[in-house]
Amino acid sequence: MASLVSHPDEIRVVTKRFGQGATDLDRYLALDGYQAIQKALAMTPDDIITLVKNSGLRGRGGAGFNTGMKWSFVPKQSAKPKYVLCNGDESEPGTCKDRLIFEHDPHSVIEGVMIAALAVGSHTGYIYIRGEYRYLSVIMQRALKDAYARGFLGKNIFGSGYDLDIYWHGGAGAYEVGEESALMESLEGKRGIPRIRPPFPAVVGLWGGPTVINNAETLASVPPIILGGPDWYANLGTPKNGGTRMFCLSGHLNRPGVYELPMGYNLKKMIYEVGGGIPGGRALKAVVPGGSSTPILLADEIDVAMDFDSLAKAGSMLGSGGVVVLDDTTCMVKFALRTIKFYQHESCGWCIPCREGTDWLKKTLTRFHAGAGMKKDIDNIYYLAENMLGKTFCPLGDAAAMPTMAFVKKFRKEFEDHLDGKPCPFEKAAEPVMV
Ligand code: SF4
Repeated sequence: MASLVSHPDEIRVVTKRFGQGATDLDRYLALDGYQAIQKALAMTPDDIITLVKNSGLRGRGGAGFNTGMKWSFVPKQSAKPKYVLCNGDESEPGTCKDRLIFEHDPHSVIEGVMIAALAVGSHTGYIYIRGEYRYLSVIMQRALKDAYARGFLGKNIFGSGYDLDIYWHGGAGAYEVGEESALMESLEGKRGIPRIRPPFPAVVGLWGGPTVINNAETLASVPPIILGGPDWYANLGTPKNGGTRMFCLSGHLNRPGVYELPMGYNLKKMIYEVGGGIPGGRALKAVVPGGSSTPILLADEIDVAMDFDSLAKAGSMLGSGGVVVLDDTTCMVKFALRTIKFYQHESCGWCIPCREGTDWLKKTLTRFHAGAGMKKDIDNIYYLAENMLGKTFCPLGDAAAMPTMAFVKKFRKEFEDHLDGKPCPFEKAAEPVMV
């Protein structure tokens, strides 16, 4: 069980039932559980979609697309069954929020899937949980069983005449399956590699049927939006970035943990007030603002609002909400190497720029960090990454390329300090811990 943290600036929307025993169905019901689905059953699908669209809820998995808009792309009439998938294949280094939702409030995800299904006219949903979260799958399976036992799922839910089945599915431990088309391949029992798009899942998805795929935090945000209304939710955040966000604070911090804060919360305040600053009062060197695939920010770039648009303007991304803080003892060459090792290991190998690019980046950075680098390697690392960007079948190639380019651009001097057989100047420093 992960321990819970809190801060007075938190606004608990998705996390409001954490620590209150809401895995138990009766407890969930006592805390407004399954109220939103009953309200949604009295609405038209179009009204549900409009409400969610107007709330400003954007995908919490990383892409940040407007959720209601995504639902609106699903055709109303379809010869094939429609599906709703919850993407719980949370694997981005630095990110550990969906895990807490599954652990503390699994029914909120089920209820979110139910509302999404109503909105798009689907009668089948899946909750896909990453393989490494096996103990959470047990919690989710029990929650589904309890919901079926009360008649909340199955035939004629809540006496409405609407039939809806939701199934749990466990992953097998591949980061790549977090990509939505790879997740569908995996669900169909195939190797989890992406599909060529278009067609997009909203039109041709799981088993060829129209499919909505949303991240677990996104879906858990839907019931409170239905109950609280779109204006309430939108006004918690910044324009076009409605609501709250679960931020996962890790690395060199006094109070690491997952905090639910309003969208647009200032990053500097997040580090120094919510996260309690850096141990030993050391200087901040850099911050990864949204999971390992997002370009790093320097210490003088952190006075920024944590929402999708502000981070994009600052040259980075909000991503999956994984904030990794690095103090001045961190070797950025080693950090770049650790980052690229992850993507090289997780590359599915389908397309050449990603398969070869991540491998060459790993080889070059390994040699470089060991003190056997050449001056031209610095430009070669950048050039390799630049040639992967936008040239791969799925975003994993970009996820490896973008941070690498930022490391070289912002820390060239540190790369130069590793040249001429010199030992790594930070070798004895403690490594940051990414949760
Ligand atoms: Fe596979 Fe990488 Fe190509 Fe994605 S970018 S399809 S992970 S090889």
